[in-house]
Amino acid sequence: MDTSEANDDTLGIEVILPDGGKPAPCCPHGPTLLFEKVGKGGEKGRRFYACSACRDRKDCKFFQWEDEKVSEARVLAREAENQSKRPPFTQQEYCKRFRKFASLPLDEKKFCQDCQILLLPAEREAHSSHRSTAVTAAQLRRPSAMLRPLDNKKSNAQYLFTDRSSHFLLDTLAALGYKRVLCVGTPRLQELIKLRNLEQSHEPMKSLLLDIDFRYAQFYSRDEFCHYNMFNHHFFDGEASSAILQAFLTEADGEKVVMVADPPFGGLVKPLANSFSLISQTWGKLQSSDNSNSDMPMMWIFPYFFEPRILECFPSFTMLDYQVDYDNHPLYKHGKTGRKQSPVRLFTNISPRDVVLPKEEGYRFCSVCQRFVWSLNRHCTKCNVCPSKDGREWKHCSVCEKCVKPSWRHCQSCSRCALPDHLCGLTEGKEGCFNCGSLKHKRKACPVKDTHRVSRHRPGAKSGAKNVSHRHVFKAKGKRKSGAARRAKKMAALSV
Ligand code: SAH
Ligand code: ZN
Ligand code: ZN
Ligand code: ZN
Ligand code: ZN
Repeated sequence: MDTSEANDDTLGIEVILPDGGKPAPCCPHGPTLLFEKVGKGGEKGRRFYACSACRDRKDCKFFQWEDEKVSEARVLAREAENQSKRPPFTQQEYCKRFRKFASLPLDEKKFCQDCQILLLPAEREAHSSHRSTAVTAAQLRRPSAMLRPLDNKKSNAQYLFTDRSSHFLLDTLAALGYKRVLCVGTPRLQELIKLRNLEQSHEPMKSLLLDIDFRYAQFYSRDEFCHYNMFNHHFFDGEASSAILQAFLTEADGEKVVMVADPPFGGLVKPLANSFSLISQTWGKLQSSDNSNSDMPMMWIFPYFFEPRILECFPSFTMLDYQVDYDNHPLYKHGKTGRKQSPVRLFTNISPRDVVLPKEEGYRFCSVCQRFVWSLNRHCTKCNVCPSKDGREWKHCSVCEKCVKPSWRHCQSCSRCALPDHLCGLTEGKEGCFNCGSLKHKRKACPVKDTHRVSRHRPGAKSGAKNVSHRHVFKAKGKRKSGAARRAKKMAALSV
């Protein structure tokens, strides 16, 4: 395990997942999350509610102390604010509009780029000063190419799969026999599924997109899109949408279902895991009794350095070596041809030996590990694993008795491997446990850490480092720089 990652307990903010008790107040993004500052000695700070989805106050300014009295006037103002942030049309209206739009002659099909909306003839006048473009039937089937990717660095930057990655995902799922794909934050995958269904040569697959970006509602029918927040499992259309999800998860005619999620990278792992568990539970309840104890097949796409956190939430998951890459992400492209390697991986509870990674791209099967690995990920006979996490060739350190990153050297005074320029002498152990202050263990091993279900609040998003002015407590402590700072750098790089 990468020790620089184990070090990310440096931020004293934890998320307290809802336990069914007092309902959280709502911001425009649904129920807020409860956060708690934790002091170094483990003492608990004052709790507060903040937006589940936005990492920047500019995007959602909601803030409330847990014990704060909120005046009637403020409650009303808040409700009005939440109301004003609703999409301009209901899901039903969007569907009706889409049907109308699709039946228009080609020369009347226009898309307003400024408003990011398909225009009906009667609306064109009102948008006459805006930039609008013609829409062909082919373009109408590729909304992810038509909509401007949200590039909000802090909360909701959209990174769209390359053809290579989206085809790989779809081919893999098809080969595994899945007939229904629940696309959580994966609009491009949903689109590809629908496109492929048009080719008669494939068995059709069904897909349902759950996404917070309601612009997608314009292109899909009621049972293909739900406006959803994956950080609090909130359906903006309430019961109607959860019923659609339920219907989708009911594996009618033995059609196997799988979930594929590609959340914003800065997302809090625990709330995401909580939402995915709830989806899995919903699925489980719909299973026949002999199958009701199993888990819903899932793929969670996230950077490799989140592995410890994801496995903490989902111990049955495996991280695969496949490098997911993105069209509109200049820095992280698939390796091999000299381009930089992507740090984004698949985490899944599907048996890794069944997920065949393409040989022509440099993956091979390790018969000992029983999984496909990247060419540079050589099996270490001492560790008995293919150890590399980041795509580089790792090397075994006989003192540490484990494989480490190629750039690390064994340091005598720290008695561990580290970067040659590490802060020598400042080993992790000396910082002690962030939860209880003991010098004998780190927070991960803390015997009292699970007294409530918690998650660490992390800086950075698919999008970059967090900057929440009133929540100054989110900032990492300067002194503990190494792990957190390095990771923040990685995160920032992801956002370029
Ligand atoms: N690679 C994917 C897109 C991933 S970008 C593809 O090509 O299909 C992250 C996606 O998650 C975007 O579609 C974004 O709109 C969505 N998203 C971001 N925050 C979200 C939230 N809180 N709840 C649900 N979806 C969210
Ligand atoms: Zn919000
Ligand atoms: Zn080794
Ligand atoms: Zn070593
Ligand atoms: Zn040292």
